[in-house]
Formats: sequence, C-alpha cells, structure tokens
Amino acid sequence: MTGFTTDAFGRIVGANQVLTDPDLMRGYLADWTGRRTGAADAVVRPRTTAEVSAVVAECARTGVAVVVQGGNTGLVGGSVPEVAGGPVVVLSTARMTDVEAVDPVEMCVGVQAGATVASIAAAAAAAGTRFAIDLASRDSATAGGIVATSAGGIHVVRHGGTRAQVLGIEAVRADGRVLRRWSPLRKDNVGYDLPGLLAGSEGTLAVITGVLFAVVDQPGHTAAAVVGIDTADEVFTLIRQIRRAGLVIEAVELMTRAGVALVVEAGARPALAGSSGYQVLLEVSGADPVQRLAAVLADSGVADAVVDEGPARPLWELRERHTETIAAASTTVPVKLDVTIRRRDLDAFLADLDELIASLPYPCRLVVFGHAADGNLHVNLLDVPVEQQAEVAHRVLERVVAREGSVSAEHGIGRDKREWLSVVRDEVDVATMRAVKQAWDPDGRLNPGVLFPDAPD
Ligand SMILES: Cc1cc2nc3c(=O)[nH]c(=O)nc-3n(C[C@H](O)[C@H](O)[C@H](O)COP(=O)(O)OP(=O)(O)OC[C@H]3O[C@@H](n4cnc5c(N)ncnc54)[C@H](O)[C@@H]3O)c2cc1C
Repeated sequence: MTGFTTDAFGRIVGANQVLTDPDLMRGYLADWTGRRTGAADAVVRPRTTAEVSAVVAECARTGVAVVVQGGNTGLVGGSVPEVAGGPVVVLSTARMTDVEAVDPVEMCVGVQAGATVASIAAAAAAAGTRFAIDLASRDSATAGGIVATSAGGIHVVRHGGTRAQVLGIEAVRADGRVLRRWSPLRKDNVGYDLPGLLAGSEGTLAVITGVLFAVVDQPGHTAAAVVGIDTADEVFTLIRQIRRAGLVIEAVELMTRAGVALVVEAGARPALAGSSGYQVLLEVSGADPVQRLAAVLADSGVADAVVDEGPARPLWELRERHTETIAAASTTVPVKLDVTIRRRDLDAFLADLDELIASLPYPCRLVVFGHAADGNLHVNLLDVPVEQQAEVAHRVLERVVAREGSVSAEHGIGRDKREWLSVVRDEVDVATMRAVKQAWDPDGRLNPGVLFPDAPD
C-alpha cells in the first residue's frame, strides 16, 4: 500500500461523492438482512465508466480493496465489506442509472450498471417489449447486481436467468482498464464468453459498468391462478397439463400453508378458502387465458383454485410479501437458504426439513417458498437463536447435498456459503475457478472474502 488517501477519489468523482462520515456510510455497510455489517475507509459514488476506471486504477496503485455494491439487496453477504486489515472502499453504482432507449429491431436495451430492474422493465414496457428478469427486489436491485449474481426471479421458467439475457457487457478490470463487448448479435462465437463469465462473478472479477440486455416480446393476455395442492410433485403434473392445452407458462411459484398464513396475518388478502398444504401461483399467457386456464384446472380435478386476469396483483402480493413478512415476523434475523432440489425429490426434501425442524431443541418456524418449476426453494428458518444459526444452516445444506441439489440456486455464494464451494465442486473445478480469479484479479483486491473460503476476511 502506497500513499492511500481518499482525497484522490474526490478529485475523480467530486468530493461530495466520497463518503467518509460514519452516519452517511452506515447504509452501505450493512446488508439487506441486517446480519452482515462491515467497515470501510470510504464509499465512492462514480457517475461514469471513466470515473470507475480512474477510481479502480487509483485503488490498484495504492493497494486498496474494492467492494462493488449495487442495490445492496443480495442475500448472501457479498455486497458489504468485511476485509480484515488494509484499506477498503465500497464502490457504489447508485449514480450510474442511465437506461438507453430500447432498440426494437435488435430487441435489446443498453443500461448503466446502477439502473434498477424496475427502471429497465419500465423502459422495455414503454417500447412494447418486456425485460425478462423480474424479482420482488426490483425497485432496488440493479443491472450490475443481477448480472454479478446471475439472478433468477419469477420468469426463469419462461426465459431463463440473467445470464441468458446478457448480450454485451462493459466492465472495469482490476487494473482500471475497460473491457467492452457491446454487440446485439445473437450469434457471436469469437473466443471465450466473457460476458457470460462475469454473470455470477459476484464482484470478484471486475466492476460491471454497463450491460446490453436482450428484451423479449410482451406476453399479451395473461391469467394468474392460485391453486391448492397437497404434494409439491403435483406442480409438475399441472405444468404439463397447462402446456399440453397450448398455454405458455410465465411463472410458477410455490407457497406453503405456513407462509401464506404469515402474509395474510400481515394484511395480504387470502386467495383460497381451503387449507391445502401448498398453494401454487401460476401465471400463463395465450388466447383467452382465464377461461382456458380455468378449464385445465377443472379437468385436472383441482378442488381449490382461483383464477384471475393478469397481472392479478392481489394474487402476486401473496407470494411477493413473503421475504419482507418473514424478516419482520422472526424474533431473530431469519436463516435464509436458497437451494435447488431435483424435481423428483421436492417432496422428500420438504419432509427432510420437517423432520429436521421437529428434532431441534428450540422453537423454530419453517417457511418455504420458491420458484417451483425450477426446483428452487427458499428455505427460511424463523426464531433460531443467533448462536445456533450457523449449525442449523449447515444441517439444511447437508440435506441438500445428500439429495444432490445445489446449495445456491440464484443468490450466489457470497460470504455465507463459501465453505460449501469445495463440498459441491471438485478439486479441479475449484482450482480452475481460482485460476480464473488469478487471471482477472491477481492481487485479490476485488471483493476479497467472497466466493473462495480461504481468501482474507
Ligand atoms: C425481497 C427480495 C426478493 C428477492 N428475490 C430474488 C429472486 O427472486 N431471485 C434472485 O435471484 N434474487 C432475489 N433476491 C436477491 C437480490 O435481489 C439479487 O441477488 C440481486 O441480483 C442483487 O442485486 P443488487 O443490485 O442489490 O446487488 P448487491 O446486493 O449490491 O450485490 C450483490 C453482489 O453483486 C456484486 N455486484 C453488485 N453490483 C456489481 C457491479 N456493478 N459489478 C460487479 N459486481 C457487482 C456485489 O459485490 C455482490 O457480490 C431478492 C432479494 C430481496 C431482498
């Protein structure tokens, strides 16, 4: 480290965009869950790629670690610094919010890294198109954040995750150089897929400054339904029946009785009168979707269902209020695990969880919900005493691994799950990832402590 001073950042971005006052920095130093807090020498808020490049080059010159932060809605502790020793800055993309006009011929939209998902969706909708990524954190989560985590969300069943939407990328390398691949071409197999590599890189390889996203056609008429079922497996039968009827599945979300009860208690309107073990929220598109979806459900013998014309916000509210309601209802910060289970194992895994909860020597409420068509479950354990949280999280993930599932479906590894990397990826795989990290960030200054277990923390 040579001559580190926050004054240099002020000369690049303007002194008022370099925060060093603890009160002003506080919001940048705690994650969304409140579980992770950290310290930094400064929060730097550039406006342009040129400013990011100059800030990162200055950090390289003076040996400063860089933690990139978008909307700070990540749920695995990757967006706040926890760096032991040595200076660290949070580089916030909060001011990099430009969204270009949608190109309706190439079907793409160029955005700066700090543009929110909601603002990209609004631009896409204004041009008669749709941004395929949607998630409940849409008002805060950013383009850079969703690419860096390769976020999933509610339309993966229809359009794939964030990685599948990235056509081009602009990113600042660890030494300050700008990497730009910015072409709307759908087919361009020249060399390694660097934009694809940055998807899911969690701020450890480069600072993403801009993204060229694909947009898709608007779905036309949609219908939504909430359906009561008794086993999670029934979801896949329903999906097959709906597709066979010629409707397009836009979203499939699983909720449990416990989760629905919690959000209803918090003020959401219940959809169903019955008390099925699970409720599935379905969104479909096609001609006459309300009538046709209702007919499919009637034919399939579903006893308890409500169907409404899209966007059916009250039905969606039941699902979308889960995360915030769980956070507010738990007496301790909830343990949150985002996992994928093979479709055929969903019910068995849910039974594993019930068994685990029953065996705990302290009261614990279990709320599971998730993007069921992808086998993606968000496992939430409420009221777990703080000193027991790591152990119980470990026990859940052990069960996921035993069923050959994924310990991170869509939130990434961050700091929370880094010890699982070498459990679920073999030696050669981890060594290859480390070689990639070494090539992009030889001094280990980009988001140290994230992803790899023995990085400085
Ligand atoms: C209510 C709620 C609902 C959610 N629903 C979903 C969901 O359905 N699906 C899903 O996948 N996630 C979901 N999430 C998690 C979260 O919203 C996503 O992980 C999102 O992609 C994070 O975006 P962000 O801008 O907030 O990133 P941050 O939280 O700021 O950062 C996340 C990671 O990305 C890195 N990063 C951020 N910006 C950049 C950049 N410009 N360049 C390089 N690295 C960067 C950070 O360093 C960090 O490692 C939800 C969260 C909440 C609170």
